[in-house]
Amino acid sequence: MWIDSHCHITADAFREDLGQVLARAAKAGVETVIAVGAGYGIEQNERAVELAARDPRVFATVGVHPHDAAQLEGEGRERLREWLGRPRVVAVGECGLDYFYTHSPREIQREVFAEQVALAREIDLPVVIHVRDRGEDAYRDLLAIWKREGGSEVEGVLHCYSFDLCFARRALDERLFISFSGILTFKRAGALREVAAALPGDRLLVETDAPLLSPEGFRGKRNEPAQVRRVGESLAAARGCSVEEIASETAENTRRLFRLC
Ligand SMILES: [Zn+2]
Ligand SMILES: [Zn+2]
Repeated sequence: MWIDSHCHITADAFREDLGQVLARAAKAGVETVIAVGAGYGIEQNERAVELAARDPRVFATVGVHPHDAAQLEGEGRERLREWLGRPRVVAVGECGLDYFYTHSPREIQREVFAEQVALAREIDLPVVIHVRDRGEDAYRDLLAIWKREGGSEVEGVLHCYSFDLCFARRALDERLFISFSGILTFKRAGALREVAAALPGDRLLVETDAPLLSPEGFRGKRNEPAQVRRVGESLAAARGCSVEEIASETAENTRRLFRLC
């Protein structure tokens, strides 16, 4: 059985057929999905919270994506705290730094990320982290903030990992897990598969990040949680172990990180 540790199934892309999408996931052996509330505007967190409350296959996360960091104000802060206190909300995020698109100014992204790490510590929840950059600045700043705010106390995950082995190892030292997405399956992702092969198995997660990042063979199409197995197959091939082992190990890691029961 698989867990899709990161997907956006409450996004508009699934508005028409979410029931069928979740049924296909179950049929593909995906027992649990983590619905990330952040990423489509602060208000949309509520959809993930509500889905988790009514569907036993779903847990939710709540946060402010770096793209939306400049939108965070007083009312949004109150809403976040309220949502984070709801049942089956298991993490803060996704939050972090995105210097690739820089939809919000870097300075504000750093402040809002730091604020969310501090909040996660206060309410004792792990953190789902997004980091992207053409260079290394966002990665350097992210780890500095994580250390300064004491993030290792609550742990977290670098979702959709696509950077190098050196940084992944530094992140592991700071009690971060590493999650791989459909990028791992891409033809030209040989270097990333080498990273995946070199990391300790008890710190790895798999995700779809649906509706984005469909695996090789499906690129450009809408992604969905049923496809998480393809990421797992790629991870198994890279690590030279069985697909079943990857399924159970990544599911166990996800349960441990998010303290699922
Ligand atoms: Zn992300
Ligand atoms: Zn995401």
